[in-house]
Amino acid sequence: MAGGILQGKTGVVLGVANERSIAWACALACAGAGARLVFNYLGEPLEKRVKRLLSENLPDAPAYPCNVSSDADIAEFFGKVRSHTDQLDFVIHSVAYADREDLQRDFVGTSRANFAMAMDISAYSLVAVAREAAELMPAGGSIVTMTYFGSEKVVPNYNVMGVAKAALEASARYLASDLGPRAIRVNCISAGPLRTLSASAIAGARAIGRFVEKVSPMRRNIDGGDVGNAAVYLVSDWASAVTGEVLHVDAGCNIMGMGLVEKE
Ligand code: NAD
Repeated sequence: MAGGILQGKTGVVLGVANERSIAWACALACAGAGARLVFNYLGEPLEKRVKRLLSENLPDAPAYPCNVSSDADIAEFFGKVRSHTDQLDFVIHSVAYADREDLQRDFVGTSRANFAMAMDISAYSLVAVAREAAELMPAGGSIVTMTYFGSEKVVPNYNVMGVAKAALEASARYLASDLGPRAIRVNCISAGPLRTLSASAIAGARAIGRFVEKVSPMRRNIDGGDVGNAAVYLVSDWASAVTGEVLHVDAGCNIMGMGLVEKE
């Protein structure tokens, strides 16, 4: 769809776990538009799966370990990226984690430790990643992270992840302000619900998908390709003056105030 607009650009994709990952949909779209990509994976259990996906689809793309809750891991990872390029053009940050139990019961029961963990991995990691990535972006760049509507309004069972996404979106705005003078843009994609590994931890996730099909202006849910296309746009020069934004890719669902009320 966006053929060739990322030709000559190099990007990092963080957050591929399997072929259903939003990061993978973004990677395929960016590679299809001509970008060279470097991937991470979270520890040994995912190494084989990610490397197999790459060997079957993007055989020239390297992948290195990186746990975003560790500053040392992030520094080491971007050190490896530096061995491939002195100019990194974009980063897609598609990483989040919360304790499964916290996505299955009332928010009021969230423990201090689990709150801190969800915030660290799902929000603070963007700050730590942006700091390292910016050092590799002397000619400017684009950083894109994934958020969800549960940051704006209450979505059943999204709980601590909604709070972390609110922090993530605010972090993106502050990063956009800090890094803007260096021509580095920072934006969020607020994606509609997709059936991924992470989403399977949220109680009632399927019902949310059905809700979107029923009430969104476009009367459909999204797919990974919809998010991938938006990511290509945000990391491309077509979005050259777009920063600090939250771009909803949700078939318009977020604009509906009373979506279940039938029209006369
Ligand atoms: P996913 O499970 O495929 O991806 C989540 C990724 O986060 C995995 O690759 C996992 O390995 C990685 N991760 C978790 N903890 C990490 C850590 N400490 N260090 C490094 N990586 C770590 O699920 P997904 O749905 O593709 O999620 C990607 C992003 O999209 C997340 O930020 C998620 O909140 C967001 N999002 C998802 C949906 C949805 O409905 N699936 C909707 C909107 C936004």
